[in-house]
Amino acid sequence: MAQHEKLVIVGSGPAGFTAAIYAARAELKPVLFEGTQPGGQLTITSEVENYPGFPDGIVGPQLMELMKKQAERFGTRFESKEITRVDFSKRPFQLWAEAESWTADAVIVSTGASAKWLGLPSEVKYRGRGVSACATCDGFFFKGTEVAVIGGGDTAMEEATFLTKFATKVYVVHRRDQLRASKIMGERALGNPKIEMVLSTVPEEILGDGKAVTGLRVKGAKDGKVRDIPLKGVFMGIGHEPNTAIFKGQLAMNDVGYLQVKTPSTYTSVPGVFAAGDVADPTYRQAVSAAGMGCQAAIDAERWLAEHGK
Ligand code: NDP
Repeated sequence: MAQHEKLVIVGSGPAGFTAAIYAARAELKPVLFEGTQPGGQLTITSEVENYPGFPDGIVGPQLMELMKKQAERFGTRFESKEITRVDFSKRPFQLWAEAESWTADAVIVSTGASAKWLGLPSEVKYRGRGVSACATCDGFFFKGTEVAVIGGGDTAMEEATFLTKFATKVYVVHRRDQLRASKIMGERALGNPKIEMVLSTVPEEILGDGKAVTGLRVKGAKDGKVRDIPLKGVFMGIGHEPNTAIFKGQLAMNDVGYLQVKTPSTYTSVPGVFAAGDVADPTYRQAVSAAGMGCQAAIDAERWLAEHGK
């Protein structure tokens, strides 16, 4: 027998926890599924210096722990399980974590997004020690050094341009001889004297001394030549993937899989299912904007449930 809940929240980043704080204070008794990476993307960043209220900064995992505590204080229940299947075609909605199932009057989807990685073993070894997928989060730590950004799209251009505030030089390493980025963002990066385009070049290995990154080994895509670029940081700018695989065919998405919401609300294409945070936001992708959307989703859900006599 499936257990019935008034409100289920799927995902445990800033959006999910903030939705839980608001929903629990509204007496909706939410249950929140934490998934495989409890706390979300912030748990793999280091210091968070741009979340308001923490003038001295706070480390990502601690910020998430505090948000969880706050949600718990008002009665949120947590399930350390991953939702693996949903059926939003009829009400109550149904959700499964492998063989176990739940029904829900309303659902908030806050499953976030994941940065894409190259898949090199050295990239895993040096993550957080010179390898990052978030210039906004970690750029500050590379003051006065040389760094590289991998990718040729708008994310890579934006990260490279941002990093020139701190780094003395930013190499943009792109596998083709033409950028994928929009004209305006490509031109902005090309016109920046601190950025050097390294085109038709594929990253082969991240080099390090065991403790930190010391360089990037690259191979020419056309001539096959291998060379090492000495540097201190490597930023992935090869895109993000929203975590929406289980919602395919059930919720409307854009062409790259981000959930579509009816702005200025968090309504998805299915009434009673709401979306908050990076899963529905290809543009800002910040902890504070995700938290803001989580608050909106809880308020939308509360009003929708009241309108439907729940
Ligand atoms: P994109 O898919 O546009 O670009 C990804 C880039 O990474 C491409 O240049 C691609 O190379 C390269 N890449 C992908 N996989 C690998 C790999 N394994 N090895 C080496 N290189 C790889 O993603 P973005 O995140 O840049 O952009 C996504 C969307 O978000 C776009 O629509 C973009 O316009 C938008 N966006 C807008 C921004 C803004 O307007 N401020 C900021 C950021 C994103 P290749 O070109 O050869 O495929």
